[in-house]
Amino acid sequence: MQNSRVPGRNFLFVPGPTNLPDRIVRAMAVASEDHRSPTFPDLVKPLFPGLKKVFGTEKGHAFIFPASGTGGWEAAITNTLSPGDKVLAQRFGQFSHLWIDLANRLGLEVIKQERPWGTGNDPELIEETLKADKNHEIKAVFATHNETATGVSSDIAAVRKAIDAAKHPALLFVDGVSSVASLEFKMDEWGVDVIVSGSQKGFMLPAGLLLMAASPKAIDAGKTNKGRRAYFEFQDMIAQNANGYFPYTPSVPLLYGLKESLSILFEEGLDQVYKRHHHLAEGTRAAVAAWGLKTCAKEPKWNSDTVTAIVVPEGYDAVKVIETAYKRYNLALGAGLSEVAGKVFRIGHLGDLNELMLLGAIAGAEMAMLDNGIKIEAGSGVAAAQAVFRANPLLKM
Ligand SMILES: *Cc1c(COP(=O)(O)O)cnc(C)c1O
Repeated sequence: MQNSRVPGRNFLFVPGPTNLPDRIVRAMAVASEDHRSPTFPDLVKPLFPGLKKVFGTEKGHAFIFPASGTGGWEAAITNTLSPGDKVLAQRFGQFSHLWIDLANRLGLEVIKQERPWGTGNDPELIEETLKADKNHEIKAVFATHNETATGVSSDIAAVRKAIDAAKHPALLFVDGVSSVASLEFKMDEWGVDVIVSGSQKGFMLPAGLLLMAASPKAIDAGKTNKGRRAYFEFQDMIAQNANGYFPYTPSVPLLYGLKESLSILFEEGLDQVYKRHHHLAEGTRAAVAAWGLKTCAKEPKWNSDTVTAIVVPEGYDAVKVIETAYKRYNLALGAGLSEVAGKVFRIGHLGDLNELMLLGAIAGAEMAMLDNGIKIEAGSGVAAAQAVFRANPLLKM
């Protein structure tokens, strides 16, 4: 239920779901149709090359499952690993935490390395751990490209380098739910074996589609492993997708939405999409600095270009700021999760977004903080973001 007390459009600045472009809303307003018709493949088949382009893969196989991103963690594991297998994962936020939890529940033995929240993957530690694993018992390394809970991005190419430097055969699994289609992703170049994403973040769709890709090595691993799976079986999908169909009933409106999403992304151009996200993130970070506040990301190298987590000063409650923003200004900010609950609020700046939309959110966050007694200068964040936006014209005129 939206906040109907404040007229006008809701300002949706959680990192996901993100705003639906009107084009996507219209594309999804379709009558139901026969998903086994002779013309259905005309819709389905072009989606895969489009997705592969976004994932940065030519060799990999792209998958579209009716699920959310979490289902992708499960599909990655059950298709390639066996219960009892060892995997290596670093924990530095709520999403890297939940993936480890899911892996444990599926019977994997997770070597969990704690990293401070506000930092990301440590490739040196990965290399060291893999070098010490002389018998190659570790079957996969899990990496979270963009930790949405803390606004931290990790260098996936560096993780691959670490695996290679250790001369270790472990598969590389990447959670790209809040990065793919917003931040550059190069599956083949970075040697990623499974990339997991979802429809409701950079793809600008409602939740409901699990979008992922697997390398030939990951797909081969599935031929001999003992992970129990049925619904998420890669082989069933590969067989049916080849002809433009699915093993079960797909969400037809979401597929039309995905087609439109890919068109929108390619019309802007992926490079420009990434540049725009960086630009919007720079404006947000300038606002935070002007407020005299800190981001959860501990060093600039961890900065995420899709979400910024802002630490409220000691003695103040971020939950109250979020509540005021929502009730008084119809602005939805992201909450602090788990270890950073009450300490941070998050501004999601990904998807269908431009400078003026973001300035509205920065202004709203500013007012909500002032309303809660946080001592910042009114207008300072907006002015700082404006300066960034004006200094770097996003669109050439
Ligand atoms: C949103 C998110 C998820 C969870 O995806 P669901 O679609 O909610 O299942 C997983 N990982 C990251 C990094 C996310 O941002």
